[in-house]
Amino acid sequence: MLACDFGNLKSEIDMVNNSKADWFHIDVMDGVFVPNISFGTPIMNVFKENAKKTLDVHLMISSPDDYLEKFSQLGADILTVHFEACPHLHRTVQKIKDLNLKAGVAINPHTPVSFLKSIIGDLDLVCIMSVNPGFGGQSFIKNTFNKVRELRNLINDHNSSAIIEVDGGVNSNNAKKLIECGANALVAGSFVFKSKNPSNTISELSSIIN
Ligand code: ZN
Repeated sequence: MLACDFGNLKSEIDMVNNSKADWFHIDVMDGVFVPNISFGTPIMNVFKENAKKTLDVHLMISSPDDYLEKFSQLGADILTVHFEACPHLHRTVQKIKDLNLKAGVAINPHTPVSFLKSIIGDLDLVCIMSVNPGFGGQSFIKNTFNKVRELRNLINDHNSSAIIEVDGGVNSNNAKKLIECGANALVAGSFVFKSKNPSNTISELSSIIN
């Protein structure tokens, strides 16, 4: 939703409600962990009140532990924290689960998939960043395909049920290959919201991957 028109947030949310999208992916940025600020709790409230699908909240913030309960109250169904922002990742993941939410971990482009080996069995979702987080509209990093394959193997080897989500620069050119490499969830922002007919674009992406 980072790429949507915030001046018309309710109608953008309605468009997604009525589209073939499965989830709302909400990027929260603090200007510290990433070089940009997106929005805070008042906007989250608008999603809570209007969105009729799963709220997948991606916390691109330092010290996410301080905000887990707040985002739970704000209607998050999935809370994803960054590997690079959590010195006590296992504890953070347990806190998310104690809130009865799905727990996700995101890894930046420079972070190896193998760093998740000891935690993969505890995760509901892994988000592979296919751009450097902080801004919408960036181009897709091709090494992501290898990381998705590697993560699929890691998940299978550990009998984990974690979903593989790819976030950044997803479009109709890379979507099919990402699914073939083992991804389950694709986050599309600018490709959808900057297109002429976002709802049709979502349908097109959906038909490519299903
Ligand atoms: Zn995201």
